[in-house]
Amino acid sequence: MPELPEVQTTVSGLNNSIRNLTITDVWTEYNSPYFYGSETIKDPKYFAYFKKKIINAKISNVTRRAKNILINLSNGYTILIHMKMTGHVMYGDYNKKDPFNRHIRLIFYLSNGKTMDLCDSRKFAKVTLLETKTMFDTKHLKPIGPEPLNDDFTFPVFNRQIQKELNKKIKLVLMDQSVIAGIGNIYADESLWRAEINPEKIVKNISEKDKKRLFLAIKSTLKKGINLGGDSMSDYRNIDGERGNFQEQHMAYRKTGTNCLKRNCKGKIIRIVVGGRGTHYCNVHQAKI
Ligand SMILES: [Zn+2]
Repeated sequence: MPELPEVQTTVSGLNNSIRNLTITDVWTEYNSPYFYGSETIKDPKYFAYFKKKIINAKISNVTRRAKNILINLSNGYTILIHMKMTGHVMYGDYNKKDPFNRHIRLIFYLSNGKTMDLCDSRKFAKVTLLETKTMFDTKHLKPIGPEPLNDDFTFPVFNRQIQKELNKKIKLVLMDQSVIAGIGNIYADESLWRAEINPEKIVKNISEKDKKRLFLAIKSTLKKGINLGGDSMSDYRNIDGERGNFQEQHMAYRKTGTNCLKRNCKGKIIRIVVGGRGTHYCNVHQAKI
């Protein structure tokens, strides 16, 4: 699933491409009576409403909250896209040769003759329309915790947030969107490897020093993900339909059986399952539970 760095990569790309364009039409193959009442475009009735509201609206800008893309329109509405498992948004003359880019479920036609397409092989993405003024009070955005790359996300804020889940395993706490926004399986494993913390360690047993290291590791790992254009180990592609490069810099995630790359560490990366999610860590420098 695209996490904070992938969503940010998409949002930055869209901001450079679609601002000030007008939406002239929209098409989807998502809608099915199965989704009636879902308040997403998967409900055909909702899609009709969505279409009416967004046609002829101008795109003001594109922002991000956690893993949500927020396309703000000049008519007081915002299109929310959550890419979920396999979604990615592309624009214009993107790479159509890549088979990962061929599952187009939603197309926005734009006033410059180009399109913005949502590719989503497994069809789990969520698209809905919110009033911009009140969107942060809706069920989609209200329960989300602080943004880890914001300047006001300081160590005391991080500490306060994880203290809410004192008796849980740290990996699960990091992935809980109400604790911290935007972290999923990849960046949780990678941050814990850097912070030298076992993913199953219970929050209340983590020392102050280790928590400080984890706080810094989260910020630096997410920033690295953004600098490398996101992670394309799976379906994610940027708005040009091209892969990011973070997967080439993994230290733990899906590196099962390989030697740990930490300097002077003789460990190996092993895989366990935590909360139903594949979890990868070093059996030496992250051994202590
Ligand atoms: Zn190691």
